[in-house]
Amino acid sequence: MYLHQDNLGNPIDLPVGKVVCVGRNYLDHIDEMRSAVPDEPLLFMKPKAALCDMSQPLVIPLDKGECQNELEVAVLLKHPLCKADQEEAIKAIWGVGLALDFTLRELQRDLKEKGLPWERCKSFDFSCPVSGFVPASQIADLQDLTFSLTVNGQQRQSGHTALMLHKVADLLSHMSQVFTLDAGDIIITGTPKGVEALKPGDELTAALDGHVSVSTTVAGK
Ligand code: MG
Repeated sequence: MYLHQDNLGNPIDLPVGKVVCVGRNYLDHIDEMRSAVPDEPLLFMKPKAALCDMSQPLVIPLDKGECQNELEVAVLLKHPLCKADQEEAIKAIWGVGLALDFTLRELQRDLKEKGLPWERCKSFDFSCPVSGFVPASQIADLQDLTFSLTVNGQQRQSGHTALMLHKVADLLSHMSQVFTLDAGDIIITGTPKGVEALKPGDELTAALDGHVSVSTTVAGK
């Protein structure tokens, strides 16, 4: 069962909540998907059953077409937010880590074409592996963080949070106008380019500046 942890592996005393996800928040990924820049943040959710520990072998569906990596900066909340401004939003952050937003890409294309919601391609069990979280007090600037993903020794994704179209404070405030965010919820903030299929046996390393580095494998080989 998933429980929040800090970057040293200590448990964090917060309930496990929902995951609120942002789509199309980096221009290079919008370009690679040939998608349009949204007028306002594109939001979707994953249930808590989607959460798992990124350092454990990653379980992906093998019978539903390509399952692609999307490495994203994740934010863990320690206070609820309802119709919050950006200042309140920043104060509600417990810490920052990394998440993988696993995506069944072929199924997503099919759902998009039919105008159907994305839960079937984005919100399945174990679709959101997360790292430990670095306390916010150790992060000088949320919008000045680099993050990267290597797969089998080759760099596949590299991002910088300065390049977010909607910054973290803006995202949290915006979300909280639509629905209440709770203590223990995780927000994942969008992927840069480099989304590709994963396969059993792949070896991944995800890093967030000098704060977090997780090496893991895709299970099933
Ligand atoms: Mg994503």
